[in-house]
Amino acid sequence: MPDTSIRLGVVGTGYVGLTTGACFAHLGHHVVCGDIDPRKVDLLNAGHIPIVEDGLEQLVNDSRSLGRLEFVMGSVAAARDADIVFLCVPTPQGDDGSADLSYIQQAAREIAPVLKPGAVVVNKSTVPVGSTLAVENELQRDDVFVVSNPEFLREGTAVRDFLQPDRVVIGAANREAAEKVGALYDSIDTPIIITDPASAETIKYAANGFLAMKISFVNAVAAMCEAVGADVAAVVDGIGSDSRIGSQFLRPGPGWGGSCFPKDSRALVKIAEEHGYNFSMMKGVIDVNDEQRTRMVDKVAKAVGRHHSNLSGVTVGAMGLTFKAGTDDLRESPAMAIIAQLRKAGAHVRAFDPTTCGDLSPHQEATLAGVELSSELIDIADGADVICVFTEWPEFAKLDLDQVAERAGAGITIVDMRNLFAPSDVKAAGLGYDGVGRR
Ligand code: NAD
Repeated sequence: MPDTSIRLGVVGTGYVGLTTGACFAHLGHHVVCGDIDPRKVDLLNAGHIPIVEDGLEQLVNDSRSLGRLEFVMGSVAAARDADIVFLCVPTPQGDDGSADLSYIQQAAREIAPVLKPGAVVVNKSTVPVGSTLAVENELQRDDVFVVSNPEFLREGTAVRDFLQPDRVVIGAANREAAEKVGALYDSIDTPIIITDPASAETIKYAANGFLAMKISFVNAVAAMCEAVGADVAAVVDGIGSDSRIGSQFLRPGPGWGGSCFPKDSRALVKIAEEHGYNFSMMKGVIDVNDEQRTRMVDKVAKAVGRHHSNLSGVTVGAMGLTFKAGTDDLRESPAMAIIAQLRKAGAHVRAFDPTTCGDLSPHQEATLAGVELSSELIDIADGADVICVFTEWPEFAKLDLDQVAERAGAGITIVDMRNLFAPSDVKAAGLGYDGVGRR
C-alpha cells in the first residue's frame, strides 16, 4: 500500500509530467500538477487532456474524481505542500547542440522558497551529467535533496511504459532520499537501480543513443539491401532472432525523430565533447539519420521522374504527419522534415493525420503552416502525383487502393516509408510501389 501521507508535486504537465502525475495518482498517491500554460491547466480541469496518449484521459479523470489528482497554475502551487517534487519541464536543444537547462533552472528557482524542509526534488526531465548539482545550486537549500530519476516512457504507450517499466533508475548522493523516491514505485513489479547522479543521467542518454543507433543501423542495412538486391524484412528476421541482437527497434523507415532522440543524441555528442571524448559513433548515427531523410526525398523525386531540387507543380499526398503512430507529437517528425524539403523544391503537400483533423493546438497550427490538411484519408489521393506513407498508423493499411488509383490516376507511385503495404496489393491496384529496403 502506498504511503498516503506523502504528497507529490509535478512541475510541467506535458507528455512526461502528465503521465507521471496521473500514474502516481493511479497508484494511490496524492498529486498536484502545475503548469505555466493556462490553456493546458484549463483543459485538464475541464476533464480533457491536451495530448493524445492511450489510456491517459481515463486515468486522469478517475484520479480526479477520487480527489487524488489536482491541476494548478504554475510550479509554486504544485510544490508548496509536496514532500517530493518532480521536475518534468522541457530540456530542448540549445544553439550549440547541448541541452538547454534554462527551464529546469527557472523551475528550481521558482519552487526554492516554498519547498518544505526535507523535501526531495526529482529531475525527471532528461538532463546532462551534472544537472543534479545544477539544480542544487539554483535551489540554494541545504535542507532539500535533489535526486535524478530519468524517464524512459515512449509516447503512444506512455501509461503502459510508466506502470510496467523495464526498470526504474534513481541517482542520488543521499541514500535515504533515493529510497524515498524508490518507495513511490513499490507497487510496481520492476527492478529499481539506485546509483550516483552522474551514472543515472548517463544511463538516460546512453539508452536513447543506443536505440537511435539501432534504427540508424537498420536504415543503413535497408539502403544496402536496395543496393545488393536483398530484402530488409528477411534480413531483420535473420538478425533479430539472435537473442544478443533482438528484433525491437529494427524497423526501417524515414529515420528517427520525435521530441527526444534528435536532441538527446546531439546532447550526448556534446556532453562527451565537453568532457574530452569524441563520440564519433554517435555522430555517425546522426549522419545516417540525416541521409535517410534525403534518401526519402530522392525516392519521391524518382517516383515523379524529377530531380529533387525541382518539384514545382507536383502534388504529394501525405499519409501521416506525427513522428510515429499513437501520438499527436509533431516535434522533429521525419514527416515534417521531409515535407519541408519537398515544399522547398516547389511541391504542394496535401496531408491526412488522425490527430490533425479536429481543432489544432497552437503548436500544430504553426508547424503545419503551408500544408493542406484533408479531413478524410482518401482525399489526399485527389490529383496526387505521388503518395507518401510517413507514419505507420495501423488504420492506414486499410486504405482502399483501387479508390486511390481512381482518384489519383493509375500509375502513380506509393512511396511507402514504413513498409506498411504489401507491394503486390499496391501493384494489383495499378499503382507503382517503392518501400524501404524491399526487393
Ligand atoms: P512537454 O513540452 O510536453 O511538457 C513540458 C511542460 O512543462 C509544458 O507543458 C510546459 O508548459 C511546462 N513548463 C515549462 N516550464 C514550466 C515551469 N516553470 N513551471 C511549470 N510548468 C512549466 O515536454 P515532455 O515531452 O513532457 O518532456 C519533458 C522532459 O522529459 C524533457 O526533458 C524530455 O526530454 C524528457 N522526456 C520526454 C519523453 C517523451 O517521450 N516526451 C520521454 C522521456 C523523457
